[in-house]
Amino acid sequence: MAMRCPGSLVPAQVRIEGRNTEANLGSACHAAIAEIIRGNAPDYGQIASYWDTPRGEIVRLTELAAQIWSESIAELFPDCRVEQKMQQVFGDMELVGTADVVCSYPRRVLDWKFGRRADDYTPQIQAYAALALATWPPGENDFPVYAESMSRSTRVEAYICWVRDGELETYSWAADEIDGFVARIARVAGDDERYVPGDHCAICSKKHECVARRQLVRQSVRSIADVDISQMAATDIVEFRRRLTLLDDAVKQGRAALRLFVQENGPQLSDDGYALRLVDKKIRTIVTDKAWTTLCRLFDDKEMAGFVTVGLTKMQEAIRRRVRLEHHGREMPSGAMAAKIADVWSELRQAEAVEFETRTELKEVRNLKGYHIT
Ligand code: SF4
Repeated sequence: MAMRCPGSLVPAQVRIEGRNTEANLGSACHAAIAEIIRGNAPDYGQIASYWDTPRGEIVRLTELAAQIWSESIAELFPDCRVEQKMQQVFGDMELVGTADVVCSYPRRVLDWKFGRRADDYTPQIQAYAALALATWPPGENDFPVYAESMSRSTRVEAYICWVRDGELETYSWAADEIDGFVARIARVAGDDERYVPGDHCAICSKKHECVARRQLVRQSVRSIADVDISQMAATDIVEFRRRLTLLDDAVKQGRAALRLFVQENGPQLSDDGYALRLVDKKIRTIVTDKAWTTLCRLFDDKEMAGFVTVGLTKMQEAIRRRVRLEHHGREMPSGAMAAKIADVWSELRQAEAVEFETRTELKEVRNLKGYHIT
């Protein structure tokens, strides 16, 4: 965040502790996977109640992370430290950070991401890389593979694991590149009177009181009505979408404030005979397991298939529950869970029950080096 807007480094005058569902889920999953890497069984019930987050979602994401960890990452971290706080002074600047997983020699850092991709997190992992290099400087303890080449021994390897996508972004930086990151971070830290509002304001803890954001929202509202996309340059189109994202967030914030106001002050009357009030709405749902026998008696398979859908996440949770029950009290062989899930998918594919649908969405993605737009 600070790399996009140095002003966000200045603490908010009024801190608003809202319930951020996505952030709570991420923190809960971080706590659970840290326990697994330490070799302990996470107490999911306690974690769920501490973070006020549904247990099932924590279990699902943590188990995905644990699977990725054991299959692809654990061997990269022979000397593994979990939730390692690092603190180093670089010139006039003190950098402090807690990396999810680090390894001293070879120097490696890992950052779990349990949310959806919404921002560029490389500055964050670059800061961890700088801290790791300063904490474990090159020396005789260096990992044997690297000791043969001093230039390699001063590298830091960094990983961002996107758990939902099962993807591992991998970076390898030499010491001089890391010096460059430190210089950039120092420049930003010394520039905290500069405010750069944009779509990233949506996740900023100062957004409720930020004058720069408010001005940009006003300006965007004014400019949006006269937009002619066909006359815009590509960079302006990308910027236009960012403005829309900013406005979406401002509208969401406005709606939440309105709801709270009506909740606290009662209905608000218009002068043309309407009242803005909170209205209860009953939503009818069918409790599947209680309805199942009745539905099976009333409908044949084909009819049932017409209105019953299979939730993929819930189905995978059921497989996991079953495997855990099968191994109850015994150590589960590594990969047992993944193998069972793969078996179920394979059977479903054989039954031609798996279909793919492509949904096209408008998304801003990082334009990687070498990618040419034609
Ligand atoms: S709300 Fe936006 S402009 Fe204001 S400090 Fe946060 S990121 Fe910067």
